[in-house]
Amino acid sequence: MDNRLAPIKLDSYQPLREVVCESLREAIRKGILKPGERIMEIQLAEELGVSRTPVREAIRKLELEGYVVMMPRRGTYVANMSIRDINEIFEIRTALESLSNGLAAEHITDEELEHLQRLLVIIGGYIKEGNMEKIVETDIEFHDLMYHAARNQRLVGIISNLRDQLTRFRTLSMSYPGRLEATLDEHKAIVEAIANGDRKLASKAAEKHMENSEKTLLQAMDAMKAQNMKSRSTAKKHSAAHKAAAK
Ligand SMILES: [Zn+2]
Repeated sequence: MDNRLAPIKLDSYQPLREVVCESLREAIRKGILKPGERIMEIQLAEELGVSRTPVREAIRKLELEGYVVMMPRRGTYVANMSIRDINEIFEIRTALESLSNGLAAEHITDEELEHLQRLLVIIGGYIKEGNMEKIVETDIEFHDLMYHAARNQRLVGIISNLRDQLTRFRTLSMSYPGRLEATLDEHKAIVEAIANGDRKLASKAAEKHMENSEKTLLQAMDAMKAQNMKSRSTAKKHSAAHKAAAK
């Protein structure tokens, strides 16, 4: 398997297990280690260039934080979410994004609006380049700016928390065919409504964006599950063939 994790730099003042923990947490949040994926201690240690002990300690900590699940006799996996979990999060998020974008339409400053429009252009450029890491990063900046423009600190806190719970699915759903282009169109509609100071339309546009985000995420998860089952059955056939050949 390819190396997906950067080796740990040892010039840090932080204890090694914490650096390892932070690195793995980031990898899960960014979707580099994918939801439902099996975690192999020895492989992670190799990729990070450290011994197994700090990796084991980090995994235990991440289990407490809900990022990984350890299943007796079956191994350790990146925590997955059920459809119900995702429905719940989106139900609240849709209502709050709608409120937040509506408020932004009333309170945004000219500089913020200009900044939003600039970010749309920047994201468009990254989509052309296919730079997924930058797309996800700029998308977060774009939404943060809109939350901020709503001028309600408590709302920002609650929305950010909900969004964090889904961050690790971001790359998965953004990679779904056609999603990037659709996202850009949906963002443009939101910005246009905000620019017109149209609270109702801004709320509506936000709701539509959330509905489509949820739909795509569920589709992407389905596709991933199907893919996993396929590779699992190929692996089984493979090992059966090996056994047969060994006889
Ligand atoms: Zn968005």
